[in-house]
Amino acid sequence: MSTAGRRLGSTVFALAAAIALLSNCSAKVAGTASPLGQLDPGSAGGMPVTTGASGPRPGVPDARLPVANTDNGEMDRLAVNTIADVDDYWADQLPTVFGRKFVPVAKLTSYDSDGANLKVCAGHENTAGFINAFYCDVDNSVSWDRGELLPTLVQNFGPLAVTMVLAHEMGHAIQTQLGPLSGVNNATPSIVLEQQADCYAGSFMRSVAEGKAKHFQMSTGDGLNKVLATTFFVRDQPGHSFTGQGAHGNAFDRVFAFQTGFTDGPQRCARIDVNEINSRITETAFRNGEDAGQNGNVAITVANLQTVAKALNDVFRPTTPPKLVTALAKCADAKTTSPTAYCPATDTVSMDVAKLKEIGTPTRKGGGIGDFAAFGEVASRYVLSVQKAAGLPLDDADTGLRTACLVGHWGAAMTTQTDHLSLSAGDLDEAVAELLTSTSLIAADVDGKPAASGFARVEAFRIGFLQGASTCTEQFGN
Ligand SMILES: [Zn+2]
Repeated sequence: MSTAGRRLGSTVFALAAAIALLSNCSAKVAGTASPLGQLDPGSAGGMPVTTGASGPRPGVPDARLPVANTDNGEMDRLAVNTIADVDDYWADQLPTVFGRKFVPVAKLTSYDSDGANLKVCAGHENTAGFINAFYCDVDNSVSWDRGELLPTLVQNFGPLAVTMVLAHEMGHAIQTQLGPLSGVNNATPSIVLEQQADCYAGSFMRSVAEGKAKHFQMSTGDGLNKVLATTFFVRDQPGHSFTGQGAHGNAFDRVFAFQTGFTDGPQRCARIDVNEINSRITETAFRNGEDAGQNGNVAITVANLQTVAKALNDVFRPTTPPKLVTALAKCADAKTTSPTAYCPATDTVSMDVAKLKEIGTPTRKGGGIGDFAAFGEVASRYVLSVQKAAGLPLDDADTGLRTACLVGHWGAAMTTQTDHLSLSAGDLDEAVAELLTSTSLIAADVDGKPAASGFARVEAFRIGFLQGASTCTEQFGN
């Protein structure tokens, strides 16, 4: 987030902002997912949440596809098994859905970005230092970096992160084969091509979740959560605008495209176009030099947490705001959750500031996520007070998703620069990343029990962001 450049203390300004918010509440945004009332905390895109193994299926013989420059190692096996399963998927789907015969890509190349340079993509790309995986339409090929990219994905998100990334690249091959059928031509902006590819990857990953892939399996609980969280790693760096050259999207937008493919299938992916993108894409540049200088993150301090509380008061305007204390407090009628807790008996949000600082401070080693991850945690406990005041239950099956939805609404309100805090590039991605962790409270009830489906947690947050608080409290779960 960024602190406001201008500090306008006048109540007229605050009121104007509040009115603007109210009028936004009912705005329907094209391309939003299912209405919140249809979201089920125990389901991911219509599939029940499952636990269990995710990754390569044990005991299945490896696929055999020719790969240029392969070292026949573990990463290339993972890549080849993925391409083989993706090929099977499209060999089935392309005729069924689009009436077209699928043609596998002409060439697969493995390289080590730390190793000797190769010229790939008909001589257009050099592989030295190129930590990437890509489809090349000049020679209809897919190439991947087995040296850095693939091992890093596996290390951080598990083997299915590689599957997801290569399914995305194959999505570009599908796009090229479909041509006008997916509305694509030489003038199509990069963000449309990338959103379609993410969507095709999502539709393929559903077939993995449904047990239809030969070499891979995925639970719709932790397995799918890790795949969704991969979008945080492969997102554009914060501050990149979606109109920029080569834009792939921020994590918030990329996860939407993936979820759309997972839920609605490839036909829906082919319909993603410029109009849809313009109506829902959130990826923006930084607000100003100061915002860019701090990379969209403010320090997690007591003072800034108090500012967050003020910003929450401005948005939800409670008759009596909950008390805020900067040490975790015991509670008579709810668990003391960490890193922050809400106590209904005393209407208090208590916080472990050191722990919040850990979550909210990004480090090179990838320890913390970013300021909105920490502030979102605090906001989630604050909105329990809002729900209590509205007479809503704080520990029923829908509390988690309703909470995430209200935090999303607060995030949207912060895009209108207030006199306290404003949303920065990167904040929504931090929310997505935090929501998908197993310990996050953003979609949890008063006792810290999260909605089982990470997929639904992200959807609920997005619905709150796009459609506003009334959707969260009136339509959801009633
Ligand atoms: Zn791409």
